[in-house]
Amino acid sequence: MNSRNLIPSLIVAALSWSQPGLAQVDRPDIGGPEGLDIYEELTEEAIETTSNWDVNDSLTFIPGYDMYCHWNTDVLFDRLSSKPFHHDTLRIELGMHECDIAMPCDGKLTSPFGMRKGRMHYGVDLDLETGDPVLSAFPGMVRISKYNKTFGNVVVVRHYNGLETLYAHLSKRSVEPGDLIDAGDTLGLGGNTGRSYGSHLHFEVRFLDQPIDPATVVDIEHGSLKALHYDLYGSTFTSSIAARTATTTPAVGKKYHVIRSGDTLYGLSRRYGVNVRELCRINGIRESSTLSIGQRLRYR
Ligand SMILES: [Zn+2]
Repeated sequence: MNSRNLIPSLIVAALSWSQPGLAQVDRPDIGGPEGLDIYEELTEEAIETTSNWDVNDSLTFIPGYDMYCHWNTDVLFDRLSSKPFHHDTLRIELGMHECDIAMPCDGKLTSPFGMRKGRMHYGVDLDLETGDPVLSAFPGMVRISKYNKTFGNVVVVRHYNGLETLYAHLSKRSVEPGDLIDAGDTLGLGGNTGRSYGSHLHFEVRFLDQPIDPATVVDIEHGSLKALHYDLYGSTFTSSIAARTATTTPAVGKKYHVIRSGDTLYGLSRRYGVNVRELCRINGIRESSTLSIGQRLRYR
């Protein structure tokens, strides 16, 4: 049963994010499906517009609020909230019985989580026909229901244990942010929207914005839980980040280039095989920044 519009579709910024300097945290750049960047950041403007928001204003029942400290109905996964995982182990309860999950659709696995053609695939692809219902795997609250150029029509559901699940390429969405849903409730209809070739469901499982292989949570073939709980280790995320960064940032010491006359960010980008955005990020500069002769620029 849906309780529509339970929560206004506003962006709620974590109070801690308003602290200056947090944006400087050195963190690997994270790509989307097929390596596209799906992470966004809460802008200063977004934070300002929600500065009057009070955690006591009835929003404390948002699933997993204590872990995320925010509720954002627009940004799919937030770069700033991709916190380093400090626990040795964190046990996430998945259900009381192995059948406490609804398979999002009936189709077979057509593409697994992991590296694909040299890029990270952050979910699994499940076969379906356009128009087949897509169901929520677990109970929770719809955080996002929108069109995205990569994911097409996409729905993200926040669950009570802090996990989030994402359902992409839908032909139709039938829920709105704030809707309370049960496992097995219909979120929309499968399709082929966004960057997709052929009707399928791209299904992701995330915790604190970090991707988890859905096949380690769900037995896709049998439509049951792999276990009643899921233990997260610091290394759970490290491995997916390592796989991701291996394609862009070799894990070796820092290297620097000393700027000479005629050097440009684009030239250095080509020379060292690091994209301009990454160069800017690791050096804390903007693409429009002027380079001065003798300046040291880190390229690795
Ligand atoms: Zn996919």
